Amino acid sequence: MSTLVTGIAELVTNDPSLGPAPLGIVTDAALVLDDGLVAWVGPAAGAPRADARIDVGGRAVIPGFVDSHAHLVFAGDRSAEFEARMSGVAYDGGGIASTVAATRDASDDALRARLRRLVAEMRGQGTTTVEIKSGYGLTVDDEARTLRLAAEVTPETTFLGAHVVPAEYRGRADEYVALVTGPMLSACAPHARWADVFCEPASAHAFDGDQSRAVLEAGRAAGLDLRVHANQLSAGPGVQLAVELGAASADHCTHLTDADVDALAAGSTVATLLPGVEFSTRSPYPDARRLLAAGIPVALATDCNPGSCFTSSMAFCIALAVREMRMTSAEALWSATAGGAAALRRTDVGRLGVGARADLAVVDAPSYRHLAYRPGVPIVRTLEVPG
Ligand SMILES: [Zn+2]
Repeated sequence: MSTLVTGIAELVTNDPSLGPAPLGIVTDAALVLDDGLVAWVGPAAGAPRADARIDVGGRAVIPGFVDSHAHLVFAGDRSAEFEARMSGVAYDGGGIASTVAATRDASDDALRARLRRLVAEMRGQGTTTVEIKSGYGLTVDDEARTLRLAAEVTPETTFLGAHVVPAEYRGRADEYVALVTGPMLSACAPHARWADVFCEPASAHAFDGDQSRAVLEAGRAAGLDLRVHANQLSAGPGVQLAVELGAASADHCTHLTDADVDALAAGSTVATLLPGVEFSTRSPYPDARRLLAAGIPVALATDCNPGSCFTSSMAFCIALAVREMRMTSAEALWSATAGGAAALRRTDVGRLGVGARADLAVVDAPSYRHLAYRPGVPIVRTLEVPG
């Protein structure tokens, strides 16, 4: 069954053949969706007939958000840690251990219920593609079950056994890396598309450059593509390692040297910025303008997780990107849609040209600019298309 979507005051396609780059905007637009894909797009006056019709009443329509970085399989609550941080306690990743303990104790059903609630929360706010990492199990069995649960809701699953060194391996990080790159990877690779590591020599809980390289090279040898938690707390080796190994994305990029920026500019790795983390840890924001000036593709994602940033709202991250990182509204929206798709090496999402997935979000306003202009207001939702 085909569906005509009409009444679109402003349609963001991210397709430069349909309108000016980067957003490819068509005004007074219509779309025809067929079999889950965009079959036609253009001015409403020229729209073909379809079996059904949805009129969005003069609102803006954008590609569904592509949230390329999230940690949604966990148990427990760290609101007290957030409160302590707002009173001046620094963030160093140490609180992850409490989520690990709670997650290990939780049943599959409890984890699944939490996961599905968060995915529904995202979808209700316009997110139609989400990447989900493991990393709160940190045993062979708990990492594998985390990824099995994540794979129930998304194809974009990431093995993050090297999130932190768990308490039982304290002082024996190299032994833990051997577990991650050996039996844990073997158990997890069938359920994962990506391998990731928290590369952060400045944290006592995360992994240094050599350990991170070992994790990523083992992941690649097991057939997984790569992404890296890089340069969040310090200008460590993560970004250059990500570029060298051909990772799809280096995530955080908060502390960058000139050599890091040069490496990103010369490589094919997307820089994924997670400004909700800086907001929720009261830390300095990444320098988005420096990356954009160097021509580096930038993605925006939530990093939705119970510790450093518990927001599921891409619109909130767009508002932060515009207000705090001086991205334009157009740059921020591109990064939250097409940028996220690039960070996942997907060409079927993050755009609304013919052949793209029929993943649409409706903004309850005449223009996408309201996403940053009306921070904290729930004005964007996924368009549910029957049939
Ligand atoms: Zn993360």
